Amino acid sequence: MQAAAEGGAVEREGARLLDGAALSQAIRERLAPRVEAFIAAAGRPPALGLLLAGNDPGSEIYVRNKIRQSEALGIATDLRRLPATAPFREALDIVEEFNAADAVDGILVQSPLPAGMGADAEARVFDAISPAKDVDGFSPVSAGRLVQHRAGLVPCTPAGVMALLDHAAVDIAGRRAVVIGRSDIVGKPLALLLLHRHATVTVCHSRTVDLPQVAAAADILVAAIGRPAFVTRDFVKPGATVIDVGINALTDRGEVVAIFGPGSKKLAAFERRGRVLSGDVHPDAAAVAGAITPVPGGVGPLTIAQLLSNTVRAAEDRRREDQ
Ligand code: NDP
Repeated sequence: MQAAAEGGAVEREGARLLDGAALSQAIRERLAPRVEAFIAAAGRPPALGLLLAGNDPGSEIYVRNKIRQSEALGIATDLRRLPATAPFREALDIVEEFNAADAVDGILVQSPLPAGMGADAEARVFDAISPAKDVDGFSPVSAGRLVQHRAGLVPCTPAGVMALLDHAAVDIAGRRAVVIGRSDIVGKPLALLLLHRHATVTVCHSRTVDLPQVAAAADILVAAIGRPAFVTRDFVKPGATVIDVGINALTDRGEVVAIFGPGSKKLAAFERRGRVLSGDVHPDAAAVAGAITPVPGGVGPLTIAQLLSNTVRAAEDRRREDQ
């Protein structure tokens, strides 16, 4: 296991560990009979259309994992690639082809799109995705439905966080939740999901004043920032549930030593590979938290599990509407 190899779990002793890898496996096992039932009824598998434009190495890995896990579950995939130099119109053409294809149930456009497609390319491409096939939940229609608490397809990472909280039987109603980060893909939708479950939600960002004090009021603290080990123990109320969404690659040995310590398993992993992952939460927070997610092996595996779940759901819903 990558988490164990990097010492993600080991170095978070003290707090209860929320194991996203195990829950992801359980979600996939629950989806398997639904995929079989769909195939039996529809005479074809649920299918995911993916667009990968450009050569971003991280995107290559994400897309490969999404395809591998989809196919392992019996979901068909159709990957279209575009070079980094392709005009935006070609991305739109592929989305429109997927929209029109009866046998495509979900559409995923991997971020980021190449810079040459323009600053507003992602927004425009999300505008074009049919809401019934919007398995990432990023279209304005999906976002609007989420605000109104009548969402079908919810963004995958926030949905994964909610699944993890529920699986760990963390109380949400009436609790104080602080979400650090206000992106459209993580922070904002997660704040809404927590609000719909009756948490009292505060959303923080780079302009928040007295951030550690605000965070330290949280029963549920979510870090979705993109800064390694930013959330130290001072941010954490004793006993709080801490969800670390951040995935940050560390390639500087000094930074690994500063965060994880000279005798740490992370440093040993770094010496072998020249690279390790850090969350947005400092390892010392585990001494104060009641429960915490490891990185890797926490929120990450749930993001793909929720993508599979959204794809199966989109396939079932589309079939129901056709009948
Ligand atoms: P974005 O860069 O879109 O958003 C980051 C947010 O953090 C912004 O709202 C920003 O505030 C806030 N922020 C940045 N610096 C500070 C600071 N010093 N103090 C307080 N807030 C700050 O990132 P994403 O939401 O896309 O991703 C966040 C992290 O989650 C990344 O590490 C990413 O890799 C990871 N991620 C993990 C996924 C998973 O599957 N586990 C999936 C998606 C993302 P402002 O708005 O003011 O700029």
